[in-house]
Amino acid sequence: MDMLDGKIAIVVGGSTGIGKAIAAEYLDDGAEVVIASRGEERGMETAAELDCEFEPCDVSEYEQVEALVDGVADAYGTLDVIVNGAGIGSTTGLGEMPISEWRDVISTNLDGVMHGSKAALPHLLESEGCIINIESIYGLRGGKGAAAYSAAKGGTVNFTQQVAVDYAAEGVRVNGICPGFVRTPMTEDILEDDSFYDFVRTRTPMNRAAEPEEIAPLAAFLASDGASYITGANIPVDGGWTAF
Ligand code: NAP
Repeated sequence: MDMLDGKIAIVVGGSTGIGKAIAAEYLDDGAEVVIASRGEERGMETAAELDCEFEPCDVSEYEQVEALVDGVADAYGTLDVIVNGAGIGSTTGLGEMPISEWRDVISTNLDGVMHGSKAALPHLLESEGCIINIESIYGLRGGKGAAAYSAAKGGTVNFTQQVAVDYAAEGVRVNGICPGFVRTPMTEDILEDDSFYDFVRTRTPMNRAAEPEEIAPLAAFLASDGASYITGANIPVDGGWTAF
């Protein structure tokens, strides 16, 4: 029997990068998976490649997230897991921050996690399911030159703990994964910049960035029955960044 046999999972932000790797891992582990993101073309391509379903959704709009989650729960009869993995990058410091950029980053990276969690909660209370939030080392430490991104990720780290505390007794587990730098479309430009990659390597004891497939196995374990006593944990997968 596979680790996630019979589980129904939504992976928000599943069309590319870390979310796509998590969706692929979940499918390998026996789950039924619906991926969601804004871009329909890329979403459909990924769904065809992975052999799963795609639904368009902008996580910054609560009504869209609620429609996604209720639609999946209706169609599949239940919902066991939501991975809140949608995110946008931002490497702007406070002094240079346009207010519009701050709002965009917070509404996707922080509001989006709340929207997915809130919409999924009634279904997860029924299934005794779980929430997995994709956070960042920049939620655990100040991210150099990344004011809005760090604020959003720090918010999700504490949100994860808070919601875990409120719903632990009712059987809903809530955990976060805090990746270090991972090679995805979000980071391909900055990791190609030699001076930035030197900074990443200097700060990372393992001396390299990660591949998305190195983040996905933890997301699968956290969704499995093997993680039945893990809640409120924000777990780094960072090559040692936060140990340094
Ligand atoms: P990515 O490859 O750019 O993927 C981001 C995903 O989120 C895509 O599916 C994207 O699709 C979706 N998305 C973005 N905005 C959205 C919105 N408003 N509504 C719905 N979907 C949206 O990025 P990634 O590197 O895999 O990042 C995934 C998560 O990991 C993010 O939360 C990111 O902050 C976090 N993370 C990444 C790294 C890293 O080094 N790459 C490190 C730590 C944490 P559309 O654009 O089509 O909507």
